[in-house]
Amino acid sequence: MQMKILALYPGTFDPITNGHFDLAQRASRMFDQVIVAVAKSPGKSPFFSLAARIDLASRVLQELPNVRVVGFDNLLVDCARQHQARVILRGLRAVSDFEYEVQLAGMNKRLDPQVETVFLAAAQEYTFVASSLVREIAKLGGDVSEFVHPLVAAAIKERYA
Ligand code: ADP
Repeated sequence: MQMKILALYPGTFDPITNGHFDLAQRASRMFDQVIVAVAKSPGKSPFFSLAARIDLASRVLQELPNVRVVGFDNLLVDCARQHQARVILRGLRAVSDFEYEVQLAGMNKRLDPQVETVFLAAAQEYTFVASSLVREIAKLGGDVSEFVHPLVAAAIKERYA
């Protein structure tokens, strides 16, 4: 019997963007199940609460049947183990992502040799899309509808209102 491969896609998702969605969708065609793991990330002082980030990601991703969303506040490799995920999935946008991502992958491998990190290249049209930029644009009154789901655009607008 072939084993199902579950991939854990962790991040802060503050908030989820079309770039995140694209990555999750492409991964959903490669793995049996993709678990989007929203990190509490208190060190980053997120704009949206963990509950709000989970809620937005769940609603935006609900059209992808083999993708589900969870929150986590523990060590990433422990979260992966809890969900029986053998693959940690991360996106690479620019060379600037590379150094940190390789360090993270190396550390996670050391913490749990069973886990493999898989990188997916960001789609050309989303290489410049980042949650931080989306928040900044919205804060200054710019239009972010091209970069995020309408639900997310509305949630940002509401928070700045
Ligand atoms: P973190 O705080 O862990 O970097 P993010 O929410 O910023 O969390 O990103 C989560 C993952 O999604 C990272 O692997 C990041 O490289 C990837 N990612 C972010 N934006 C995009 C995008 N536009 N296209 C593809 N992958 C992306």
